Amino acid sequence: MSLLVIGSVAFDAIDTPFGSTGKIVGGAASYISLATTLLHKQVGLVAVVGEDFDFDFVSLLKARGTDTTGLQIKAGEKSFFWHGKYHMDMNSRDTLVTELNVLGDFDPIVPEAWQQPDYVMLGNLSPQVQLTTLDRLTRKPKLVVMDTMNFWMDIALDDLKAVLKRVDVLTINDEEARQLSGEYSLVKAARVIRAMGPQTLIIKKGEHGALLFGSEGQTFFCPALPLEDVFDPTGAGDTFAGGFIGYLASTGSTDFEAMKTGIVYGSALASYCVEQFGTTKLASITSEDVDARLAQFRLLMTEKA
Ligand code: AMP
Repeated sequence: MSLLVIGSVAFDAIDTPFGSTGKIVGGAASYISLATTLLHKQVGLVAVVGEDFDFDFVSLLKARGTDTTGLQIKAGEKSFFWHGKYHMDMNSRDTLVTELNVLGDFDPIVPEAWQQPDYVMLGNLSPQVQLTTLDRLTRKPKLVVMDTMNFWMDIALDDLKAVLKRVDVLTINDEEARQLSGEYSLVKAARVIRAMGPQTLIIKKGEHGALLFGSEGQTFFCPALPLEDVFDPTGAGDTFAGGFIGYLASTGSTDFEAMKTGIVYGSALASYCVEQFGTTKLASITSEDVDARLAQFRLLMTEKA
């Protein structure tokens, strides 16, 4: 099953109570690609970077199985840059800087070979670009999953609502679900958001796990693995989404039972992501590591061993 990924490929700077990074590689699609290719190899990327980007990282994505033909490199321009600062609890953060640079006028050209993907992951990007990407597909995918953030709710709510009408699954964090729905209760928020388009909704609650609301009113919860040290939560949401859709693409299913397993995979991968700064940890693990952590999750969630 082919899986098309779009999203930011970027430079980040991250401040945590335990230290700061300089400019490091980040971006939603970077995390998604690293996560999905641990589970599934038929992955194509549509994204844009400037000529200042770290091309060793692009080589790594390719080596891990991502087809990067759809990655545009803009001569004379700078890559997207995001600077975030985490609070002491590591569950909340402030965005200090967002420099769109190449993302400001990104035209998502989908290579011909990727115009009929089975699965689509619309990673965090301007909703207008997410819409254009869907318009450029020449066949309806089996499943479209979308991730977004409060930044786009603040500046492009109408476009965001237009994309929501065309996606099957939305992944969003709890604060953003409350902002989008105007409801504090996450159960009510899920009802309001599902009425906006996505039949299935995943609400991520950081260290408190993730809730899956299905198309027939089903609910499932997956905890986050209790970790001794959370070093840097950046990209955990993208990694989670990449694990979720990567698992579904590897099985070819889209039903609720498969989605339940998908969020366990997403949570297992996200638990690795937060153990080191940026993409470092995700870039160093193998599918054996994923299996090992999945086993830990199953123990965590099973009443009788
Ligand atoms: P997450 O921690 O999963 O929410 O994702 C963090 C990643 O999102 C960082 O690596 C950033 O580069 C990227 N990011 C932050 N703001 C934006 C934005 N407005 N559009 C696209 N990507 C963004």
